[in-house]
Amino acid sequence: MMTNQKHSATLPPASGHWQLNHCKTVHCQNFGSRNPDDYIIQRTNPNRPAFICKECGAFPPLISNQNVIAEWRYLKLQQSNGLPACSNLDCDNLGLPVLTHRHLYHAFGYSGDRQRYRCKSCQATFVDRWSGFNPKHQVQQKLLALLFTGHPIRDICRRLG
Ligand SMILES: [Zn+2]
Ligand SMILES: [Zn+2]
Repeated sequence: MMTNQKHSATLPPASGHWQLNHCKTVHCQNFGSRNPDDYIIQRTNPNRPAFICKECGAFPPLISNQNVIAEWRYLKLQQSNGLPACSNLDCDNLGLPVLTHRHLYHAFGYSGDRQRYRCKSCQATFVDRWSGFNPKHQVQQKLLALLFTGHPIRDICRRLG
């Protein structure tokens, strides 16, 4: 038997400041509330909802904040597609490419002939591995960045002349 799953069940632990378990009925006065007293939370009877809004009776599925945030961060990292970007999983700039988010980074000297950047948010540094090996790399970087961020080809041709 599990011991700590009695009537005093609580919300799943928050991930940082993320608590995704709350009433999602927009017109309900508990909408977005993180107060466990606004809900009936039980995990003793698997046939009944684990999480019920006392106000509107909605029962959104309980979700693991940790899992969702981890997944979300992973997806963000994938979005950078190998373009230079902060790769610190705890950083707000995670996965945001330098090319499209210049204001988030400082140029931070060179590593060999490759540009190094520092994240303004977490101070992590990283190297732009596309730089330094081709005189056309500026155009190529922009091309890649625009492609990866979903711009139509025709739009890219117009932008890059
Ligand atoms: Zn509600
Ligand atoms: Zn960062």
